[in-house]
Amino acid sequence: MSPLQHKLIIIAAPSGAGKTSIVKHLLSTLPNQLGFSVSCATRAPRAGETHGSDYYFITPQEFTCRVEAGEFAEWEMVYEGKFYGTLHSELQRIWDQRQAPLLDIDVKGGLRIKEQYPQSLSLFIEPPSLEVLRERLVARGTETPDSLQMRLNKASEECSYRNQFDHIIVNDQLEKACKEAVSLVKDYLTR
Ligand code: 5GP
Repeated sequence: MSPLQHKLIIIAAPSGAGKTSIVKHLLSTLPNQLGFSVSCATRAPRAGETHGSDYYFITPQEFTCRVEAGEFAEWEMVYEGKFYGTLHSELQRIWDQRQAPLLDIDVKGGLRIKEQYPQSLSLFIEPPSLEVLRERLVARGTETPDSLQMRLNKASEECSYRNQFDHIIVNDQLEKACKEAVSLVKDYLTR
């Protein structure tokens, strides 16, 4: 059995905390050991996103069928009417490649995965403040005023779960946060 068999890394954070940049950095630093876990999502693709590499974009009907068939390790309605979920088959696909799945996932979904895979490594990426989070989301330019407020309300709730993660990384400087993440992941993978 590969030493990476059944290792799994959860990266959770409120939207806009810099999670995606840290996930990309981890994948480019440890490309042989880590495989990105592609989630199913019912939202529309954003410009530049591709089916099968960013998400498996599926309809709400297909999502429901797959929930009923027990195909998800976890799933959440992350935003009103928008469903996201991690397929058992996706985790297995990555383990079969002798890599550890890296999950970019919301906070509640992350905790549900941790319950099922207690041997996983769970990292919570914390934004320095809600004000900084607001500025980052505005700068990203993907939000309407309503969706911005929705993400900020959710972020404030999500931060209350941070102590249930194995480690908290405060993303006040991206480079420092990336280094910390790499060091924690390398240490976990060699354990
Ligand atoms: P976005 O719509 O910005 O791509 O993602 C919204 C949120 O959904 C992010 O916090 C992202 O990490 C989370 N997410 C992505 N995939 C999954 C998943 O499979 N399960 C859960 N619970 N959340 C996910």
